[in-house]
Amino acid sequence: MAGFRDECGIFGIADSEDAANIAYLGLYALQHRGQESAGIVSWDGARLHVERGMGHVAELFGAKVLQRLPGSRALGHTRYSTAGTSVISNAQPIVVKTSMGPLGVVHNGNLTNAVEIRDELERAGAIFQTTSDTEVILHLMARRPRESVVESLMEALDRVRGAYSLLVISQEGLIAARDPNGFRPLVLGEVDGAACFASETCAFDLLAAKPVRELEPGEVVVARGGEVKSFHLEQRPVPTRCAFEQVYFARPDSKVFGDTVAEARLAMGAQLAREAPVPADLVVPVPDSGLYAASGFSRESGLPFEFGLIRNHYVGRTFIEPKQSIRHFGVRIKLNPVRELIEGRRLVLVDDSIVRGTTAPKIVKMVRDAGASEVHVRISCPPTAWPCHYGIDMPTREELVASNHSVEEIREFLKADSLAYLSLEGMLACLSSAPESYCTACWTGDYRVPITARDRRQAELFPIRAEEGE
Ligand code: AMP
Repeated sequence: MAGFRDECGIFGIADSEDAANIAYLGLYALQHRGQESAGIVSWDGARLHVERGMGHVAELFGAKVLQRLPGSRALGHTRYSTAGTSVISNAQPIVVKTSMGPLGVVHNGNLTNAVEIRDELERAGAIFQTTSDTEVILHLMARRPRESVVESLMEALDRVRGAYSLLVISQEGLIAARDPNGFRPLVLGEVDGAACFASETCAFDLLAAKPVRELEPGEVVVARGGEVKSFHLEQRPVPTRCAFEQVYFARPDSKVFGDTVAEARLAMGAQLAREAPVPADLVVPVPDSGLYAASGFSRESGLPFEFGLIRNHYVGRTFIEPKQSIRHFGVRIKLNPVRELIEGRRLVLVDDSIVRGTTAPKIVKMVRDAGASEVHVRISCPPTAWPCHYGIDMPTREELVASNHSVEEIREFLKADSLAYLSLEGMLACLSSAPESYCTACWTGDYRVPITARDRRQAELFPIRAEEGE
């Protein structure tokens, strides 16, 4: 059951004549949360219609495809996963028929006891269609039909653990649910009197929808006919929101967990400049992940900011390497230095994170080859030393360079003149909620929701291979 972990964006609209079109635009704005597959499901009052495919939202959904998605209720999903599970059967929405009527579901996050529950269900005769953990929720619901879909969903959610922001489409309405830790974001909005839901507020901006509020951890919301009803799961909410959303994953123009991501990243860059200043001539971001932190570093330190590296935005996930190997091809296809800006200069090179440590040494070499006289690497979060079990793609612990190397060893490996990471306290001080209300597991190993032994083994057997320099 590889590929239990994936990063995703979700969007839903409860009542609109233009539901599928609106869902399409919502997903378009959430493309950064997953570029591998996308799908939309709509409800026309009698049945569900679903369109899914591998690829980007804009490629998959033309006018013709959207016409095949009639109805006033729709939801959709963008997904990124590993190559091993890069198959259409894992693309969401997942749609099933149950005695409560047809159901469609999209999920962002990662359940921590999915393998365990799946084994149990399979032993009882369940036949799974996908390798995705989301299907576990549907099976739990289908086996225990209740008077209402929301009741059945809430019972199923009481059994699962881990991270989920999810949307369910049914004849009863559109249901949105967020796990009691609120690991992944999920916001409620309003467009022309209809409720809509999105992973991030940038989707609302595109639709001129009004952001209403973030769903609370452990909250379940049912939207139908302009009405919104709120319920709460039995499990006690313990907010531990993913701080890596602010560091890397979310779009800078979104407001996530009460903070505008761009502002949080600027603050992290400024804090990094206070914690790890260095005499230099220029601050250069690694685009796009390091842009805001570099800008914050530059403002705080007073050092000029320059776009010394250019990113090619049109590189797909797969590219064909020439037979004759070209030096640094893997990274150069995405990034290229502007020699005239960096030659003879002492650089502060800013990025958000080092994961396996494949990209950073290549970038350091690249800017040195382009004439930089010194390269000081600054990272706007603490060393990433623990894999994420709550929905961010990351390799196993052994593959995370900071899990088995000191900062000085990593500096040597990067061949940088200096290397500094932002401290955990410094990073959390840049966010507006209380420090203990964030999940910091990828930096501290403090997994606030335990992972069952089976699920942990599964994650180790099928490590995530995040693409180099993505
Ligand atoms: P690495 O070469 O493995 O050290 O990757 C570091 C680069 O990957 C940095 O530029 C990050 O912005 C980016 N990155 C961090 N986390 C992820 C992730 N979960 N998926 C893809 N890219 C990531």
